[in-house]
Amino acid sequence: MGISLKTQKMLWGRAASRCAFPDCRKELVFDSTQTDDESIVGEACHIVAKSADGPRGESPLTSEQRDKYNNLLLLCNIHHKVIDDQYLHYTIDLLHEIKQSHEVWVSSQLQGFDAHKQRDDEIYASYLEEFEQQIDIENWNAWTSWLFGGGQPQLSKEMRSKLEGLRSWLFSRVWPNRYQNLEIAFENFRRVLQDLLNTFDQHSVECGPHDLVTEKFYKIDRWDPDAYDRLAKDYDYHCYLVEDLALELNRAANYIFDSVRQSIQYGYRLDVGVLYVTSGPHMDLTFKHYRAQYLPEQKQNIPYPGLKAFAETVRFERDFWFGDKT
Ligand SMILES: [Zn+2]
Ligand SMILES: [Zn+2]
Repeated sequence: MGISLKTQKMLWGRAASRCAFPDCRKELVFDSTQTDDESIVGEACHIVAKSADGPRGESPLTSEQRDKYNNLLLLCNIHHKVIDDQYLHYTIDLLHEIKQSHEVWVSSQLQGFDAHKQRDDEIYASYLEEFEQQIDIENWNAWTSWLFGGGQPQLSKEMRSKLEGLRSWLFSRVWPNRYQNLEIAFENFRRVLQDLLNTFDQHSVECGPHDLVTEKFYKIDRWDPDAYDRLAKDYDYHCYLVEDLALELNRAANYIFDSVRQSIQYGYRLDVGVLYVTSGPHMDLTFKHYRAQYLPEQKQNIPYPGLKAFAETVRFERDFWFGDKT
């Protein structure tokens, strides 16, 4: 898993982005792409090493605990080398002391340190971490693909109930009120999610013990070609609407990540890139990928206008859509 965003936020924020080594206190940058060559890249150093054979590595801490804030110390590269080379002198206890006195110095002596902002940033980071887990971000493409599966939207029951949990979790959040754009992006996501789930639920039925699938409700057990045609059209309309809402959900998630980069974490998820969804197999047996995102002029306030306006007009103004314009 590595070091999470929340942990990074705590480590860097509470150390005021400075080397914690006594009397060093050099200002550090997060990574080399962030600024020019002259600046010093900060290192999140392990107090108990990441593995048992590293410096100060013998400890009952699990490998997950070793990547947590309590076991990390922010240093410049020079002092990182010092503490690891001289690990017999720089014991676990001494490093905890060094860390603590640095943080005390930051909060009591350093001009311009904003403890309130630091606390807010940590709240946002913990919400974001929770959000990532609830949308199963590692498998985003896989689970959303079922919503585009061969023109018959599906979801696993497990994912469906996870998303239900996410919907109420988002609804009950208490926000710090510091980064409006980020809070708005979460609210936008919540509204899209709500309409996606409600729309999907209108025609979903159980399929086996684990899945929900859109019912082919045009299959009627009487001879009535007119009714069949009408229902078949309704069915297509419904499936396309679910798919268009799933595209909108992809946009809404990317919008959140844009807002994260503008507020709490420059560089957030730049290495993995934007989220995308995959549809197919199509008639020609291919799969298509959609990096659905809001256009720059759509990234304002709450881009999602509500189900009615979205279904009637707004989806056709987006980068991709499946439904037919009527
Ligand atoms: Zn080290
Ligand atoms: Zn240093």
